[in-house]
Amino acid sequence: MKHSKIVLGGMRFKGRQNAKDVIHRAIECGFNYIDISPLYCRKDEEENSEAWAGAALQDPYYRKQIMVSTKCAPGDGGLGLGEFKPEVGFGVRDKDQLQQVFDQSLARMNFEKVDWYHLWTTHTMEQLNEAMKPGGWYDGVMNNRDKWTKLGVTTHATSEIIIEFMKTGKFDAVTLPLNLINTTRLKAVEFCNENNITVIAMNPLAGGFLGKHERLKELALRYLMRLDVHILIGLSSVEEVEYAKWIEDTMDDFVLSAEEMLKEVGELLDTSEDRCTSCGYCAPCPQNINVGDALSYYNLYKYMHLDSAKETFNKRQWDDGIKLNNCVQCGICEKRCPNNLPVLQLIRDAQEMLYDEKSE
Ligand code: SF4
Ligand code: SF4
Repeated sequence: MKHSKIVLGGMRFKGRQNAKDVIHRAIECGFNYIDISPLYCRKDEEENSEAWAGAALQDPYYRKQIMVSTKCAPGDGGLGLGEFKPEVGFGVRDKDQLQQVFDQSLARMNFEKVDWYHLWTTHTMEQLNEAMKPGGWYDGVMNNRDKWTKLGVTTHATSEIIIEFMKTGKFDAVTLPLNLINTTRLKAVEFCNENNITVIAMNPLAGGFLGKHERLKELALRYLMRLDVHILIGLSSVEEVEYAKWIEDTMDDFVLSAEEMLKEVGELLDTSEDRCTSCGYCAPCPQNINVGDALSYYNLYKYMHLDSAKETFNKRQWDDGIKLNNCVQCGICEKRCPNNLPVLQLIRDAQEMLYDEKSE
């Protein structure tokens, strides 16, 4: 089965019944893939995204129409290697730990197999190498070869690192962050498109805050509709499913190209000042900061006065890519910026404007 253009993220369900309603309506709309994890929506062993999706899909009528994907990680959710936490799927460093977490997922879902299994939250070569070491994550997954159909990787790495991951030839899909204000991974998308690797674009609404501005919300989804990617939306209500379906159904009547949509966002920003365009050409940063991603929040807060941009920036400080306070002002990004921006000054301004006192 090929992925539908819009696919379902299972990280925002509000409860068991909500998950069932959303999943069933999404299937009726033709969305044929759901991404869950041991951690998403987790209250306890019985109440979590895996258990809820499994319960919603016990009916074969629904199950046969959707591919299910779950995952686990050698990492700790950030850039490090994790301590083993089976209940949430982090720190899976050897094949026995993989077996425990893999069996746990199947038991929670009450399934005998899954369609996709992802190497989760893997952002560095160190984490990938850990997964691929003899007796590690990959060997554990291969011991269960009859219980999954395809493998993918979920990552926030830079384009260059993602391309290295995909060159291993072990993965048929990559799930990566991509949206209207963060196009820093388009190079990886291009590589995958050329090599027949499925790209699932996560974070389409930039952590949700683009959804708080009607025009940006529409443009954000329509922009990704124009690219050769599948759009992973963390849907949490039937109304949101209907909205996504409306976007899909009305694309033929929508005249703007992807470039024209980016231009409209530029115009909405309403500034003649030089600003970061989130092109990603300044990567990689020795402090693992994704300058384009981080400065996109600054742009929307400063020029569109979107308080939600600042709020989301502070909430997402678990993501090393936007931890601007880790910047040591080494100047590497400024030297690489093709737009000759004063990047060091922009970073200092963004630090001052965006950080809540409690985040510093
Ligand atoms: S700082 Fe320059 S190179 Fe880096 S993302 Fe922004 S515009 Fe691109
Ligand atoms: S100046 Fe800061 S953001 Fe830029 S490369 Fe150096 S540490 Fe990274």
